[in-house]
Amino acid sequence: MTETRLRNYWRLSLLSTGSALLMALLLLLGDHGFREREELVNNVATQARLLAANVTAAVVFEDGRTATEIIGTVESSPMILEAAIYRVDGSLMARFQRLNAEVQFGERAPPYGHIYSFDDIKLVTPVELEGRTVGSIALRASMDDLYAELGRVFVSMLLILATSAALGSYVSRKMRLQMVEADNEIERMALYDGVTGLANRHAFELSLTQTLQRHARDKGGSALLFIDVDDFKKVNDLFGHQVGDQVLKAIGDRLTKTLRGADIVARVGGDEFAVILTNTPSPEDVESVAENLVRAGAEPFDTGGVPAHIGFSIGICMIPQDAADLESALRSADLAMYHAKQAGKNTHQFFSAKIGNKARRDLDIEAGLRQALEHDELYVVYQPQRSSRSGRIEGLEALVRWRHPERGIVSPLEFIPVAEEAGLIRDLGRVVLDHVCRDIVELRGSGHVVPPVAVNVSARQVVQEDIGDEILAALNKYGLKPEAIKIELGESVFINQPAAHAQAIGDLAKRGIQIAIDDFGSGNLSLDHLRHLPASVLKIDIRVIRNLPDNAEALALVKGIIAIGHAVGLSLVAEGVESAMQAECLKEAGCDLLQGYHIGLPVRKQDVQLLLELD
Ligand code: C2E
Ligand code: CA
Ligand code: CA
Repeated sequence: MTETRLRNYWRLSLLSTGSALLMALLLLLGDHGFREREELVNNVATQARLLAANVTAAVVFEDGRTATEIIGTVESSPMILEAAIYRVDGSLMARFQRLNAEVQFGERAPPYGHIYSFDDIKLVTPVELEGRTVGSIALRASMDDLYAELGRVFVSMLLILATSAALGSYVSRKMRLQMVEADNEIERMALYDGVTGLANRHAFELSLTQTLQRHARDKGGSALLFIDVDDFKKVNDLFGHQVGDQVLKAIGDRLTKTLRGADIVARVGGDEFAVILTNTPSPEDVESVAENLVRAGAEPFDTGGVPAHIGFSIGICMIPQDAADLESALRSADLAMYHAKQAGKNTHQFFSAKIGNKARRDLDIEAGLRQALEHDELYVVYQPQRSSRSGRIEGLEALVRWRHPERGIVSPLEFIPVAEEAGLIRDLGRVVLDHVCRDIVELRGSGHVVPPVAVNVSARQVVQEDIGDEILAALNKYGLKPEAIKIELGESVFINQPAAHAQAIGDLAKRGIQIAIDDFGSGNLSLDHLRHLPASVLKIDIRVIRNLPDNAEALALVKGIIAIGHAVGLSLVAEGVESAMQAECLKEAGCDLLQGYHIGLPVRKQDVQLLLELD
């Protein structure tokens, strides 16, 4: 409601209340006047009765002088204007008349009763003696007192009315102000973010829509920057939500300070901010703003204790080059931001045709993957893991494969991340595990001893609380024991692990399922950390093995990993072993199992059968 509408509303209600009150006042006044007049009549009648009682003797005895004296006593009653005593035959006997009062009682007695006029009231009563009428008495009283009384009542009622009206208007103005304030607050809340005081997503989209419309008309341009705060979740987890909110506020302040006044800054999500740089900035300008912002984000934030280290991943969409409508602008900036995150965070990324194409391809893959899951188009291949000492197959790694009807074989490196993003990884994991169990049973059925099969499980699958139940249910379905498989979890799963993950993994280990730490050496998982993990196998990442045997640093690293791994009771697997020299060097370093193209290619179940026969 706008303020004018509100004010009009109040005026109208005040007016109607006012007139209702006035009506009530007039009614009250009328009622009061009526009662006052009754009282006046009573008064006059009483006086007349008293006079009559006193004057009886004078009337009966025709004592005109006494009659005149008695009637003269009404002088002390100021309201009486005129009085007259009549004989029984109706002739005037005596009269009183106040100074300046008009003479209205004539020589003949008026009829009994009372008559009102505007100015006065006339009352005529008989003078009686022992039930007989001996004459009559007439009194005329002024209404002035009554009017004066009514006037007083009217004035005091008016005063009350005026006071209550003033009070009412004060209260209503106060209420109106409060309503306007509440209204403004609601409006503010609808457009602003409570934590940072910046524009919220709604306000931001309005601005962006206006920007897009403006550039559809004129030649100018703008840049849309999507800023995702890296690792903000950690701030909340470590310091609590209150500090989290303080940091968000500080981020908002820092963004505002880094930008010009004309730029639009908004908080568009939990830890997402957005900026519009207006006035046709060049890509170079935008780049330097983005760099400034990234720098600003890299500075630690105060938490009232340990400073929080976060960072900004920024996606940039140029308007109108990259997008002409709201939806595509938001999507393009978001995609670019996602790529900035993938590129290692704390950086910026312009939207490009390549990014757009990849997004389209991902969408295409997602749709295809849904189909593949439905029509069972996925299958599993197995890569042998051989003992470095005996050369025998002591393990197999299950790797999923997908033959796309048009694209041919799509690499899991491409579709696994899509499945994770699209929320399909759980279904995919279930399908793979089912295939693996079925294949183990079939291979055993044809008389082979099948070594433990390592199954890859994504971090996103570990998030499910019932992952242990699900894996055991799959094994049970085929009558397999937990020892039949191993679960490979990327090392990133073990870094900054939320308690729930640790519990899910610990639960798996408790149920007798072996856990392998995949891709070790690729990230930041420290060797020291290893002893606390419920894992039994450590797989050295392909990127470390690749540099063997010539790179001395890599060799030292591999030796160190193997020594410490063994020290904490882990068995070691090297992956991506592509040459005899690598295999030899790893054997020397004491690595337990070797896996890679040199050791054996990933093959289908039928070929696993052959491999096991030859083993
Ligand atoms: P990973 O777990 O590290 O699997 C090893 C990858 O290295 C496999 O690629 C394998 O074919 C490849 N490889 C094996 N030996 C060599 C070698 O000597 N040289 C080179 N350059 N590469 C070698 P693949 O099958 O393309 O799988 C890629 C990744 O996809 C896997 O990496 C794993 O992270 C993921 N993945 C595969 N299957 C599944 C699955 O069933 N579930 C989940 N969640 N992820 C899977
Ligand atoms: Ca693996
Ligand atoms: Ca690996």
